[in-house]
Amino acid sequence: PGILYLVATPIGNLRDFTFRAVDVLQQVDLIACEDTRHSRPLLDHYGISTSAVPFHEHNEDSASPRLVDRLLRGESIALISDAGTPLISDPGFPLVRSARSAGIRVVPVPGACALVAALSASGLPTDRFAFEGFLPRRPAARKASLENLSNDARTLIFYESSHRVLESVADIAAIFPSERRLVIARELTKLFETIVDTKVGEAISFLESDPNMLKGEFVLVLEGAPEFGRAEGLAAEEERILRILLEDCS
Ligand code: SAM
Repeated sequence: PGILYLVATPIGNLRDFTFRAVDVLQQVDLIACEDTRHSRPLLDHYGISTSAVPFHEHNEDSASPRLVDRLLRGESIALISDAGTPLISDPGFPLVRSARSAGIRVVPVPGACALVAALSASGLPTDRFAFEGFLPRRPAARKASLENLSNDARTLIFYESSHRVLESVADIAAIFPSERRLVIARELTKLFETIVDTKVGEAISFLESDPNMLKGEFVLVLEGAPEFGRAEGLAAEEERILRILLEDCS
């Protein structure tokens, strides 16, 4: 069988593309591409003329078996998304799962990924973190997700678009303590890259102070709950359970 390559592409700056990524994309038989029109300038820039087929969230379930057939027949395929690492808040999961279960070799060609870029530059702890992707669209579900995370001691990472960043930051401000640090990483690797250190209680006024701050693509990096807070929370929960058990005994 052929090989399925997962090739990371730049998240803004066209030069954040590896030599190996270019080699692989030139050599494979086919590029499965989230949006062929979007990727064409990048492919042209690097002289990649390999044929490309669309592979996106609306066709990945039906397209994956066809691509697995082609891999089984010996063709090699590279998957790319519009930006960054495929499968990270991007299409590809059904394809990778079925390729692996068909015994096809899956090879990552690593490169840019917005969450890693934002986290590494955030100044927040990087030893343990939780990537939450995009928060739910519906306000009730979004608040519920945030509430579930409010005692998590890991650094929390969210993706956001310009359309919803204010709503999400407002919900974060309603649920998390105002002194928690919130790093807003915007337009990474691009001309207007901004990485600002705010506190949960100040973030909204910061975003609203400059209309340009609301444009572009965002990664929100939120400080985790203090470890002692977690320990206290656990102790309180243990005490509550103990009381219930003691009541049952009496
Ligand atoms: N696969 C991509 C990756 O590896 O990061 C993520 C794709 S996801 C559909 C797009 C989201 O990633 C954006 O809404 C934003 O949250 C984040 N993102 C992508 N590029 C970014 C950039 N240059 N600066 C800040 N955030 C970015």
